[in-house]
Amino acid sequence: MKKRVLLIHTGGTIGMRKTPNGYAPEQGFLKGILDDITKLYDPSMPDWELLELSPLLDSSNMTVLDWNRIGTIIEEHYEAFDGFVILHGTDTMAYTASALSFSLENLDKPVIITGSQIPLCEVRSDALDNLLTSIMIAAEGIVREVALFFNDKLMRGNRCTKLSTEDLDAFCSPNFPALAEVGTKIKYNEMIPQRISRKAFRVQPLERIPIGIIKVFPGIQFDLFEEIMTESLKGIVLETFGAGNIPGSVDAILPIIQKAYENGTVLVVCSQCIKGSVSLGTYETSSALKNAGAVCAYDMTTEAAVAKLYYLFSCGLDGKAVKKMMEADIAGELSI
Ligand code: ASP
Repeated sequence: MKKRVLLIHTGGTIGMRKTPNGYAPEQGFLKGILDDITKLYDPSMPDWELLELSPLLDSSNMTVLDWNRIGTIIEEHYEAFDGFVILHGTDTMAYTASALSFSLENLDKPVIITGSQIPLCEVRSDALDNLLTSIMIAAEGIVREVALFFNDKLMRGNRCTKLSTEDLDAFCSPNFPALAEVGTKIKYNEMIPQRISRKAFRVQPLERIPIGIIKVFPGIQFDLFEEIMTESLKGIVLETFGAGNIPGSVDAILPIIQKAYENGTVLVVCSQCIKGSVSLGTYETSSALKNAGAVCAYDMTTEAAVAKLYYLFSCGLDGKAVKKMMEADIAGELSI
């Protein structure tokens, strides 16, 4: 029996067309192009169906609610298909991949997110290769997690980050090896075990939890951020220098830490470096964060940290439990 793959088109460059205002998605446009690509109907290809979200989105416009829409579609079609391919814009693809890696609980089938740097409708494009190989990987069922496929690399979804606005090699997974490399063959990395869950697949709906990101820079005046540190702010990701270091004297950040503490806001420390891990207390410049009980994100990407905050709070956990889980590996997103 032929394997069945569901393509979920959410928007993004891959299916966009040129408009007077630049590239934009258009309902039904991608389907028209796919109909003309005979390779997609080759007998060696799995059976596939296309489902298009309405409205289609440039991924810059994606919200938590759109992640839920994707989750619901997968939930509704989970039994009928062997794997899923999500066609998505590259701008926030790493956020969506991270979010789904948490919200699709006990996933036991491949969910492959892909897109392209050049639309499929253009003469020269990276879209077809990304699409064809993603469909094959989704049908093969070897990687049963949320993964991102781009430019011949299959990467764990919650480990990815967008690297380039132009290169076809647009994504990297700086702190975790590729799940598969594609050349003349699809070579899966057998050293990476797939998590096996005996529990039933379910989708945890995500809520629009108020969270924020602060990127530190030389001369940052932390006191300017005090105003946003209200009780409604559930979590804040602090993108620090190197291994978790912040500029200024300890006194500078203290009011923020104090407010976070009083309001129960979870303070998560990520690094601006894409490679390596946060290590609070290695330098004096990170000890204030460590002493204040800030959460160490280790080698988690900012994208994964943001998605994880959404997920954990959406599960109804209180601040204390969220802090604890932020430092734990729940979907392969961090190495301690
Ligand atoms: N702005 C586009 C998007 O993220 C970029 C892309 O797909 O490459 O939807």
